[in-house]
Amino acid sequence: MTDATPPLAIARRGLMLVLSSPSGAGKSTLSRMLLDSDPDITMSVSVTTRPMRPGEVDGVHYHFIDKAQYAELKAADGLLEYANVFDNSYGTPRAPVEAALKAGRDVLFDIDWQGTQQLHEKAGKDLVRVFILPPSGKELEARLHRRAQDSDEVVRRRMAAASNEISHWAEYDYIIVNDDLEESIAAIRAIVKAERLKRERRTGLSVFVRELQADL
Ligand code: 5GP
Repeated sequence: MTDATPPLAIARRGLMLVLSSPSGAGKSTLSRMLLDSDPDITMSVSVTTRPMRPGEVDGVHYHFIDKAQYAELKAADGLLEYANVFDNSYGTPRAPVEAALKAGRDVLFDIDWQGTQQLHEKAGKDLVRVFILPPSGKELEARLHRRAQDSDEVVRRRMAAASNEISHWAEYDYIIVNDDLEESIAAIRAIVKAERLKRERRTGLSVFVRELQADL
């Protein structure tokens, strides 16, 4: 047995990673792939007043709440950001995000441009904003139909809304055209890796360098 040296862990502040896209551009799949492969990232589970879709699990995909509960949470300043999308209300519970960041864990947000703007105002440098574009309008429509969870009417509305969502692309730090899932997830992992190395997030660096210099 050797006296194994523990891996060098320099303390850092967690980052807030936002993935936004029009519905159907592959954001949920990419979020899942990232979460499954990186134990240092946790998902921010939003609250919503919209009805649960088949296959969705309360507390995993969303916290499904009614309008009165939503109003109460909002009034108590319990939401970091919030927005109305397709007649439904959505919001990010504040407490779990603050706890995760404090513990040096990264938090992933699956929110739209409205929420991203609010987080940008509140979180500033903690925030890394990634926008995912579909390769074409035709492909977006095909993906929405393949999902087959939404009625034709909902698909039509989501297609119309996609143009509005996409018009905010320039408010993001990184833009990914999701033509190939493997390439897109590799790009997101590269972004996370580089952002974690940013000097200003690495709160343990000054102590590390001081000790390093003392050794010289
Ligand atoms: P869906 O109903 O398809 O799950 O989501 C509809 C839209 O609401 C998506 O664009 C999604 O990003 C956005 N959304 C989901 N949760 C939140 C949230 O907590 N805040 C904001 N601002 N948008 C959200």
